Amino acid sequence: MHDMPPNHPRYQSLLLRDKMANAYKEGILADTALIAHGRGEAFDYILGEKTNVAALNAIKAASAALLLAKNPVLSINGNTSVLAAEDIVKLAQILPAKVEINLFYRTPQRVMKVEEVLRKAGATEILGKEGDDYLPLEGLEGPRSRAHPEGVYKADVVLVPLEDGDRAEALVALGKTVITIDLNPLSRTAQTSSITIVDNIVRAIPLIIEEINKLKGCPVVDELESIVREFDNKRNIASSLQLIVQYLEREGK
Ligand code: ATP
Repeated sequence: MHDMPPNHPRYQSLLLRDKMANAYKEGILADTALIAHGRGEAFDYILGEKTNVAALNAIKAASAALLLAKNPVLSINGNTSVLAAEDIVKLAQILPAKVEINLFYRTPQRVMKVEEVLRKAGATEILGKEGDDYLPLEGLEGPRSRAHPEGVYKADVVLVPLEDGDRAEALVALGKTVITIDLNPLSRTAQTSSITIVDNIVRAIPLIIEEINKLKGCPVVDELESIVREFDNKRNIASSLQLIVQYLEREGK
């Protein structure tokens, strides 16, 4: 990447930007994926580029929901694969959960590229590949409605990071517990999901893994259930928005 010293205040952010730009050049990502990343960067900037208390709350609820799930599925798009493939594979192993490729702009080439990224990260079983069976999800049209019969289609809990609003809405309407990771607390995905983690995916997934390892020792299912029951997504999103307001007020003085 550019000649950037590690103590540069935007170092981590610029590293990720480089990773995304390279993935675009390699054909893993569509051009619009870079725009979506930029929107995320802007929100991360005004959240101080660190995990906040509201995100930690959501991470705990998400981890409990994933542990309670009968058929948890991690739904992976291009950006998620580029930014977090290794951690996704780790998360899938410890739960265990299935990994399914779901692309917004699905082309056979890009699906194969994302599959390759996941395999390089250690994934062995991947759903949503070219040629795999699929069923349409009610409420969606075209390639974006695809869901693997053994994956998202029959999942009770789905982790869909960096998702678009329509898909999140359709999954919620089908009665699934939808967990998202989205830096924009105002996005339709953030607003409609069951559990919204307003944090950068590169920080959030390792924290989910840590939390799951902690909660796994939890001997009573009741305790996990009460973590999920007591979590209020609307109120938690409001806390994230409050942090942004505080940031802007501080900077505006
Ligand atoms: P919606 O349809 O939900 O309103 P959108 O149109 O704003 O979404 P998309 O382009 O569909 O956005 O999805 C990208 C979302 O992912 C954005 O909300 C963006 O803030 C978020 N995002 C991008 N990069 C990251 C990241 N690294 N970590 C977490 N969230 C991210």
